[in-house]
Amino acid sequence: MSDLLAGLWATADPAVWGSLVLVALVAVVAVRGWWQWRGRALVEADRTAAVEKRFDTVDALGDGLAILGRGGQFTYANRAAAALLGSAAPGELYGRSWHGVFPPEGADVMEREVLPALEATGRWVGEVTRRRGDGAPLVLELAAANVSGGGMSWVLRDASLRSSTERALRLRAERYQATIRGAGIPVVLLDRGRRVVDASRDARKLLAIAEQSLEGQDFCELAVPASERSVVADQLEKVFSNGGTAAFEVSLPAEPERRIAWNATLVSAEDDDEAGAVVVGQDVTGLKQVEEALTEQSSLFRLLANNASDLVMLHEPGGRVLYASPSCNGLLGFAQEELQGKDLYQLGHSDDWGQIQASLGAAAGGHQQRLSLRLRNPNGEFQWFETLLRPIPDASGGVGQLQSSSRDISERRAFEVQLEHQALHEPLTGLPNRTLFMDRVHQAITRGRREGTRVAVMFLDLDRFKVVNDSMGHAVGDRLIAAVAHRIKETVRSADTVARIGGDEFGVLLEFNISNQDASLVADRILKQMEPPFTMAGTEMFISASIGIAFSAPEIETPEDLLRYADVAMYRAKDDGSGRYRIYDPDIDARATRRLEIETELRQALERDQLIVHYQPLVSLNSGLVSGVEALVRWEHPERGRVGPDEFIPLAEETGLIVPLGYWVMRRACEDRRLFETAGTLAETVLISVNLSTRQFEQPDLEDQVRRILVETDTDPDRLQLEVTESELMQSAGRIQDLKTVGVRIAIDDFGTGYSSLSYLRNLRVDSLKIDRSFVDGLGKNREDTAIVQTVITLADSLELDVTAEGVEDEEQLSKLRSLGCDTGQGYYFAKPGPVSEIVELLEGDPSW
Ligand code: C2E
Ligand code: CA
Ligand code: CA
Repeated sequence: MSDLLAGLWATADPAVWGSLVLVALVAVVAVRGWWQWRGRALVEADRTAAVEKRFDTVDALGDGLAILGRGGQFTYANRAAAALLGSAAPGELYGRSWHGVFPPEGADVMEREVLPALEATGRWVGEVTRRRGDGAPLVLELAAANVSGGGMSWVLRDASLRSSTERALRLRAERYQATIRGAGIPVVLLDRGRRVVDASRDARKLLAIAEQSLEGQDFCELAVPASERSVVADQLEKVFSNGGTAAFEVSLPAEPERRIAWNATLVSAEDDDEAGAVVVGQDVTGLKQVEEALTEQSSLFRLLANNASDLVMLHEPGGRVLYASPSCNGLLGFAQEELQGKDLYQLGHSDDWGQIQASLGAAAGGHQQRLSLRLRNPNGEFQWFETLLRPIPDASGGVGQLQSSSRDISERRAFEVQLEHQALHEPLTGLPNRTLFMDRVHQAITRGRREGTRVAVMFLDLDRFKVVNDSMGHAVGDRLIAAVAHRIKETVRSADTVARIGGDEFGVLLEFNISNQDASLVADRILKQMEPPFTMAGTEMFISASIGIAFSAPEIETPEDLLRYADVAMYRAKDDGSGRYRIYDPDIDARATRRLEIETELRQALERDQLIVHYQPLVSLNSGLVSGVEALVRWEHPERGRVGPDEFIPLAEETGLIVPLGYWVMRRACEDRRLFETAGTLAETVLISVNLSTRQFEQPDLEDQVRRILVETDTDPDRLQLEVTESELMQSAGRIQDLKTVGVRIAIDDFGTGYSSLSYLRNLRVDSLKIDRSFVDGLGKNREDTAIVQTVITLADSLELDVTAEGVEDEEQLSKLRSLGCDTGQGYYFAKPGPVSEIVELLEGDPSW
């Protein structure tokens, strides 16, 4: 091949072509040598990358160099070849066939001359023509040669350059020489006497050849330890006499621990004086070390690694795999060779790269690391592994390599994921639960703050869901919730979070800089989506929702705040009527916000014992003696002083806080009972009357709670009277019966303000009626009021119900009530509500009216 190449340049000045020939030879020979020798490498690096890297050294050559596979497709081209063949980059050529780069004439030459010549003699030199983009012909000099293992190599040159002057050629020659000398691999040119003719910079560095004494030194003396010189000299001699190549791996004479694999190839020329050999070296010290580490350091390691059920690997400090245990096949599906040379980053999931990098760094610093990461299997799927990464100290005490053992935890991980899912999702709808929702909102707010974008939170509450639940049963209610969840989910983008955050409450998180208009649109869509009937248990049901929307803003600090504002807006939407939405408006909702503050404070008040119970005496109008007390809760606010129940009871009911609050009052009142019973002259039995709210009524364990309080405070059930309002009574008549079984007394509070009929009350076995203050107020002044009070008292009497008049403020009202036969009175006329001590003091004065 090389003599033909020489022929290629025959037209040039002989003085110049000597160097040119050598340069071209080095390019081709280095490539060919590398191909053969590549197989020897213990650890094969990623093939294409390494091939390209190796070829980078010839890329600087002005001549085009290309390698074509068996089928005539380009597998490598340097930049010059790509340019000569009309491609912007070598990569464009890869995979394409030579057919594509020549016009018919050129392809013809290939078919007719080049290929047959290659088949016959293994080489061809001549001219081929291809057309430029503008159609002008470009004549190329082509030197084609077979490549061992199939395929061919091309050296290409623009034929028009042949007419260049001697000067230009000399310049090129000098440049080539510079290129050789600067080549990134150790390359040495030898004459037939094994004397160095030229050497690349890397070779000079490796062999410690000084620039001035470059030529004429014996290669064996420079590169081969004395003990092996004769063997290597023989090998080289064979190359000179028989052609072919010689490969030998020897230590550097000056550095015995450095091992270099040399590959020598004959360079022949027509003029025998110009013939010689090109010797290319590769430092294999690192590879050697691995080999040695594996053989020497431990047959034990090998034994362990080979038999380990875990995936055991050896890595370069940078993560590249030097060795993988056979278990990699069963665990990951890779053959051992396939893993060798791979980067940990290539194998790991990109989400784990940060972790991998940190762990490699720490391990390279001598610290053992444990990490959970995903490794890719040959199908491109990821499997979870728990990996222990250990530094392996080298002889100098540093970290030479890393060893990893990885255990497949895919199953455990799947289980964890499932558990995590269960903990963060709500089983009925499969939607994220409140915890996860708040977490997502938190993240969105943080991200929004960083990126300067707004986040919207929607609070969605079904209208009158309770009615469905009560009338159709919980099972149907549940199915309705699930169906609603499905519809909401379908309406929003998949990136938006829909969560079930309460019984019939949903949260929707809208991210990515949402405008008021966007959010309104989504809300509209959701409301629309709710319009078609839901078919449940064979019946069509309609349900609407109310939506409140709040946007993140600099002053909104926590996700809880954002959700509360959405909640406030939702309540306002409900006020507007069902099936509406509202956007939270900080000004309009300032009052509502105030209420939110109160709610927070009230919660704290309950925890911090800021609530107290006042008592107001009930007076038996027959005897004029105190026959009981009504417990009335008060809030001692640290800043605002005493807050009246009218201000916070409705709020406590809305939020459900009334439940713990109510039980607390009940317990406290029962505890205080003894203090009243032992004070002064009282009626025969003293009642403790406690207000019960609707929300408490809804608690399934109400009776249990009441029973427990009675037992724990040692209170007879018939001493406790629970006051319920008419409307509560109408809604939950069943509960009254349950409470009656406990044995407590039931009073109807604020009687006359609702619509209950007296006969209905009798069926419910209610014990007492409390006539609302508004009627008592008009006693003796307003005929109508007087008539009502009179009727109530008469009827109640016939039903054997005790009647209490609320709000008795003067003597006149008292005497009127007495004359009407009212049983009990309560009001400022007798005593205002006051703390225990005050009431006890009052009672100790033996009051009588
Ligand atoms: P209520 O059950 O009707 O309680 C009677 C209210 O009338 C009390 O107001 C009492 O101070 C007031 N009052 C008593 N005599 C007179 C009078 O002669 N003239 C006037 N003008 N008012 C009189 P208060 O303590 O402000 O309680 C208001 C409401 O708050 C109560 O109305 C009750 O519905 C609720 N409440 C108070 N404590 C509790 C509690 O512990 N639990 C529940 N669920 N509700 C409570
Ligand atoms: Ca009451
Ligand atoms: Ca009342």
